[in-house]
Amino acid sequence: MPNLSDSVRFVRGFGPKKAQLLEKMQIFTLEDALHCYPRDYEDRTRQKCIADLRDGDRVTIRAIVGTAPAVRHIRKGMDLTKLTIFDSSGTLGVTYFNNKYVAAQLREGEEYLFFGRVQGEGRQRMLLSPVHEKCQTGLETGRIVPVYPLTSGLGQKDMQRLTDAALACELRAIPDPIPSGLRAQYDLPDLASAVRYIHRPHDLEEVQAARRRMIFEELFLLCCGLQRLKERRREEEGLLFSNTDLTAFWRALGFPPTGAQRRAVDDLVRDVASGKPMNRLVQGDVGSGKTVVAAALCALAAQNGYQAAVMAPTEILATQHDASLRELFGKLGVTVELLTGSMGVKAKREALARIASGQAQVVVGTHALIQKGVEFAKLGAVVADEQHRFGVAQRASLRSKGQMPHTLVMSATPIPRTLALILYGDLDVSVIDELPPGRTPVATYAVGERMRRRIEAFMEKQIAAGGQVYVVCPLVEEGEGEVRLKSAEEHALTLQRALPGRRIGVLHGRMKPAEKDAVMTAFASGLLDVLVATTVIEVGVNVPNANLMVVEDADRFGLSQLHQLRGRVGRGRRESFCIFFGADKGQNARERLRILADTNDGFEIARADLAQRGPGDFFGKRQHGLPGIKMADLASDMQLMQQAREEAERLLAHDPHLTRYPALRERVERMFRPESGEIFN
Ligand code: ADP
Ligand code: MG
Repeated sequence: MPNLSDSVRFVRGFGPKKAQLLEKMQIFTLEDALHCYPRDYEDRTRQKCIADLRDGDRVTIRAIVGTAPAVRHIRKGMDLTKLTIFDSSGTLGVTYFNNKYVAAQLREGEEYLFFGRVQGEGRQRMLLSPVHEKCQTGLETGRIVPVYPLTSGLGQKDMQRLTDAALACELRAIPDPIPSGLRAQYDLPDLASAVRYIHRPHDLEEVQAARRRMIFEELFLLCCGLQRLKERRREEEGLLFSNTDLTAFWRALGFPPTGAQRRAVDDLVRDVASGKPMNRLVQGDVGSGKTVVAAALCALAAQNGYQAAVMAPTEILATQHDASLRELFGKLGVTVELLTGSMGVKAKREALARIASGQAQVVVGTHALIQKGVEFAKLGAVVADEQHRFGVAQRASLRSKGQMPHTLVMSATPIPRTLALILYGDLDVSVIDELPPGRTPVATYAVGERMRRRIEAFMEKQIAAGGQVYVVCPLVEEGEGEVRLKSAEEHALTLQRALPGRRIGVLHGRMKPAEKDAVMTAFASGLLDVLVATTVIEVGVNVPNANLMVVEDADRFGLSQLHQLRGRVGRGRRESFCIFFGADKGQNARERLRILADTNDGFEIARADLAQRGPGDFFGKRQHGLPGIKMADLASDMQLMQQAREEAERLLAHDPHLTRYPALRERVERMFRPESGEIFN
């Protein structure tokens, strides 16, 4: 019996040459072959008779070859092989492109199974390059045939032979990481059966069952892993902030916190006084006032003799945080320092010196903060704003600059709770589910081109009344061909003609940081009436006087992204508006944009977004090998996700070190080994 650890070189028919091709696909051993899942299945059980075939059908036909294959040379590099087949219901033409073997394989008068796609109707109808198989008595009922991913030089037959060899191994010997009790409870096939179902299913139900099991397995392992990380942190020692009196901080703030802000700050206070390192996610919709929570942590650090670092994803945002924190902490006698990549050499050297000496108490910056050469005297707290732009590794890197500093992650990405609990499973979560008072909801309209003149007039009116306008254009990608999208620069020129005399600025990603800063500052201080920008303003920018946002080609954005953008207005006292162009680009676009006009609830929108797109983005477009289990399907697998998480929690509560589940433990540990790159990327 072959062994799963055997090299693929020893499979009959696989010499060093084919083995090398397999290595390109990361298949070295029979075990690797087992994990190479089909990308699709051909359902050859669905047999049809020739008379019933329709254009576009992918079918299995059992038919007899009527005319022997005839090869025609069309032009250089193009041979056509044609033949006709028949069954009791009719005849059909078959065409193969560049297949020199067919002529020798298909014999006139013999019966075969053909699997392929039908093209054309009536007399034009034919079967294109079908797969064929000789009918043998007893076998001709057809079956579900796996279609494997290939690399040039390898065929489906090779992959079949390879997986046959792998399946001949003792599969029961592979330890199953899902405990048998759970498998029974959720009716999941065991690992050995699932592997068989994946490679050699008898029917599509088996594929479905295997798929469910593999999803459950992946989520369950992930949840166990994250839960263990969380538990492990609880055993670590953290900095103790014993002075948690925030009276002066609240007084300096100038407005009373919302109930939700206060609850989140209470969570922080409990964390930093616990003696364990804090690892908390603050999740709140755009404009919910997360910055206050971050500032509270900085104040706690400062009044306990520690430094705090606030890391923002863009220079614009870092500069803004710097300005608002400087104003607040000025009143408290706490020093604030800004550190960004674009600072001059001298300014940077001085800033670094103040950070290293501890003179700078609150340090605000971009990625520059986690670079080499930045030394903190006594880093006690770290805030990562808008977490989805920072990976776990970057957070870890900043943490490593202190001795287990308390970490706060802030995110406005409104994702459904179940998904959040999985993605952020290693963090404790505070939710800010309340907006500061005095917000008027942003009146939102989805419009088409024919409204353009009226919208321009509306912009003019808002500016005349003292307001300011954001205009957002999608990023223009190279080679977009037929669809003409507006670039920010071009659009600003057009707009200038429509709004003569108004001051229009442009902001896009290719500008130098200093240029961006200058434009943003001009807009924030009212020196510009209109800011035409790409999505660089998506995250966190706060200009309360801006009360109108116009998004061009809004159909090109994700719903959650549009909601983030909309959060840039409605931050001040002015009545605010958001206008999405693109509603005239088909029913789908109109319906999507309508969702935004109908609700202001970020979570509601995220749900709709998820249902339409799948959470590919949330998972970084990672794919499983199984057909149909791109993570996209998770939108419909919410329940499975929920179950996997609950079971992981329950299991670890009883057996935190998984001593009774060695197979599970082995897999979880493998997942968290840094070199596996599975989690930490
Ligand atoms: P986000 O959660 O999107 O980061 P911000 O922290 O930028 O939100 O806050 C948005 C705006 O709301 C800011 O102008 C801030 O000063 C204001 N704000 C925050 N909390 C309150 C509050 N409790 N009362 C009044 N205004 C507040
Ligand atoms: Mg913010």
